[in-house]
Amino acid sequence: MKNIKEEIIDGYKIKYKKHIFSKNIKITLSKDLTVLVTMPIFCSYKIARDFLYKNFEKIKNFKINKKTYTPDLKTKFDTLKIIKSDILKIQKKKEYIYFYYPKNEDFNSDKIQNKLKEAYKKALKTEAKNYLINRIDFLAKKHNFKYNKIALKNQKTRFGSCSIKNNINLNINLMLYDTEVIDYVLIHELVHTKIKNHSQNFWIEVEKYCPKYKILRKKLKETPVYNC
Ligand SMILES: [Zn+2]
Repeated sequence: MKNIKEEIIDGYKIKYKKHIFSKNIKITLSKDLTVLVTMPIFCSYKIARDFLYKNFEKIKNFKINKKTYTPDLKTKFDTLKIIKSDILKIQKKKEYIYFYYPKNEDFNSDKIQNKLKEAYKKALKTEAKNYLINRIDFLAKKHNFKYNKIALKNQKTRFGSCSIKNNINLNINLMLYDTEVIDYVLIHELVHTKIKNHSQNFWIEVEKYCPKYKILRKKLKETPVYNC
């Protein structure tokens, strides 16, 4: 196994693996909290490692997928505070979402983890409703695009889509990305209201409204896809 290097960071077992078919560095988290970093043959371990370190905080959040929520979990605008209490209760106050759970319950039990997942998903959706919908409307007006309806989804792989009728779907997990990356996705879908394919003209149009789109697109592809 000469192509595998391993290390432990913050209790996570990290495995680096070169793969002949890899085009980019990709990070996946398995159920046992092993982080697998796959990279192209010609990519150095140092580059892969730097990339992992840069994204490590995000990868920790990736635990969300695996139903192991940690205290002080963040959405874009709020922090989730987890407090032992007498009852199970979720409350939003200012920039905090308080999650109270009964003292006698195991925090990692399916019951508590599912409730927490529900609370987190709800918080993301609320933020997406406020932020994404206002932002796409702002960008559409600014650049003179017309869309029909906006729907919010919780998807694993797609960040957005635009139908023939110009109904736009947006992924609530976008809320976990930088504002610039979100803007790129919104512009991408807005340009689809005029050009349905990914032709050269499409990308020329995207670049007009989002000059940094190539970097932002790369960022979106490189960071793990969240799904809460
Ligand atoms: Zn597209």
